Amino acid sequence: MKMRKGTLYVFTGPSGAGKGTLLSRLMAADDRLFFSISATTRAPRPGEVDGVQYYFLSKADFEKKIAQNAFLEHAKYVDNYYGTLEAPVNEKLDAGYDVILEIEVQGAMQVHEKRPDAVMVFIAPPSFEELAHRLRGRGTEDEEKVCRRLETAQREMQYTDRFDHVVVNDEIDRAVRELQGILAERRT
Ligand code: 5GP
Repeated sequence: MKMRKGTLYVFTGPSGAGKGTLLSRLMAADDRLFFSISATTRAPRPGEVDGVQYYFLSKADFEKKIAQNAFLEHAKYVDNYYGTLEAPVNEKLDAGYDVILEIEVQGAMQVHEKRPDAVMVFIAPPSFEELAHRLRGRGTEDEEKVCRRLETAQREMQYTDRFDHVVVNDEIDRAVRELQGILAERRT
């Protein structure tokens, strides 16, 4: 019998909305999910390891992969490139895994065009004030970068109507349950 192909999920939402926390909770409780590791030209943060959080590439290597058509999508976000390598995503979908992309909005729109069957999920912060508070509290970016992330967030929030689901990350347990419900819809 032919194995059922997995579903592709795109998770988007402003930096600081809590996508990472929600997704690690979701992944921990579900062995049919594969989290796609993106490539980026941004420098690793303390504790980040090449091949775990991201594949950290030089600008030249990233541009070589763009020229080779290796990306399912890619975008520039606050001065750095970020992109999803297509081959591992296809391999995992073919093997029956549901694949999660955690990407910003320009990349999400590219995936939406190329893979109309992808399920689009927007993770929204409870409010803009809360987002600013979380981003500053995290302390991973300097004030100038925080401001640029907040400006980007305001633009990103205008795209919510292009998504199949908008999940407000007001309370982690509740938001995780809502996401589990979304995954369950395609598995029945
Ligand atoms: P960070 O620098 O905080 O890790 O990520 C910055 C933004 O880039 C986040 O909104 C994150 O979702 C997005 N991002 C991470 N990987 C990718 C990717 O492969 N493609 C695109 N388009 N965005 C990504």
